[in-house]
Amino acid sequence: MSFELPDEYRELQEEAAALAATVDPYAAEADACNDVHPQTLAALRASRLSELTVPAEYGGRFDHVDPLAVAVVREVLMATSSHLDSLFALQGIGSNALAKAGQPALKETWLPPVAKTEALAALAITEPHAGSDVRGITTTVRSEGDSLVVTGEKSYISNAGAAAFYTVLAKEGDGFSTVLVPGDLPGITVTPAPELIAPHVLGDVRFDDVAISPDHRIGDPGDGMNLVLGTLAVFRVSVAGAAVGLAQAALAEAVRHTRSREQFGRPLLRHGPVAVMLADSWTEIEAARLLTYRAASRAKQDALGSLHHSSMAKLAATEMAARVVDRCVQVMGRWGLVHDSKIERLYRQARPMRIYEGASDVLRLGIAKALSLEEN
Ligand SMILES: Cc1cc2nc3c(=O)[nH]c(=O)nc-3n(C[C@H](O)[C@H](O)[C@H](O)COP(=O)(O)OP(=O)(O)OC[C@H]3O[C@@H](n4cnc5c(N)ncnc54)[C@H](O)[C@@H]3O)c2cc1C
Repeated sequence: MSFELPDEYRELQEEAAALAATVDPYAAEADACNDVHPQTLAALRASRLSELTVPAEYGGRFDHVDPLAVAVVREVLMATSSHLDSLFALQGIGSNALAKAGQPALKETWLPPVAKTEALAALAITEPHAGSDVRGITTTVRSEGDSLVVTGEKSYISNAGAAAFYTVLAKEGDGFSTVLVPGDLPGITVTPAPELIAPHVLGDVRFDDVAISPDHRIGDPGDGMNLVLGTLAVFRVSVAGAAVGLAQAALAEAVRHTRSREQFGRPLLRHGPVAVMLADSWTEIEAARLLTYRAASRAKQDALGSLHHSSMAKLAATEMAARVVDRCVQVMGRWGLVHDSKIERLYRQARPMRIYEGASDVLRLGIAKALSLEEN
């Protein structure tokens, strides 16, 4: 039994490292962007790594999207640029429901361009009055003549304005349905979301009676919530991968600094309390990485059945990243505070990870619920 990654995943990490090295010189600029950074997008496109986000039948690398492959790639990308990581991940997050349950012609239209990073994808669930409480959404989809009509407002949607299409969760009668809305249809208005502490391509999207063809329905009426859960089951654990990468990058910054800076006649790293903070950080990173890889492997076998393991990995890794990056800022003293330095960027970028794709506190509720149903 080996706890090491199989070669095919190591090779993916190498591919991701090559992409990260290309983006590294302009990563600070990209991470400050609230719009898509053209050079970063071009580099992602050239890398062909978005092929990991769709099934092989539509131009992807694996028969089905492999959560472990996505997680190990995000680990590498996030260590260099959150903008790059987000562009990559959203190709899968925005297209997963379509790949699972879209009609063949619709898949044929959109999935190959997603795999080639020629079309950007988005997933629109959150609304002004419905965040963690997804069932509280009020956007509707209804049949009208030969069309489906979407009405409502989504907020804090990644890739808003840049996406070629939105996978939209909407109420339909008493249930929830998912539809694909091309981004250039009349009736769609995008406004920027407030600028976050860690900039992100983010906006609010209004759908004013937007008419789409009935074949843009994804799955059957009433399938929406399951499709969204299915997407989270595949991609939530990849946030854990990104958090591990972020923490590792923060530790590298802290080690570099504390090895070379001397106080009281010796390097900071040789002072007991500093050494303890860094040793604890390394240990926690290794633990979170193992948990992440294991949860991602389980998700590969049965994504929905192992959702609570993905939630545990996301909870553990993002909370770990916050602790680690905070310690790293601490041991770097005033250099940890310099705006737009690498460590300061990582410090800001760690924070939203504990809120999006399931806030930590909400994940804990789901994990406890699974605990009450299962023995392990
Ligand atoms: C960078 C970023 C990108 C995003 N991208 C997308 C996207 O692409 N598509 C999309 O649909 N959404 C997106 N979101 C929205 C994101 O999914 C929501 O922010 C998230 O679901 C939390 O909802 P909320 O912010 O409304 O917080 P609220 O639901 O208002 O919750 C606030 C806090 O209250 C606590 N809380 C809430 N409910 C409970 C509970 N039942 N028990 C215990 N504690 C609770 C948690 O601490 C939570 O953080 C994005 C958000 C960010 C920050």
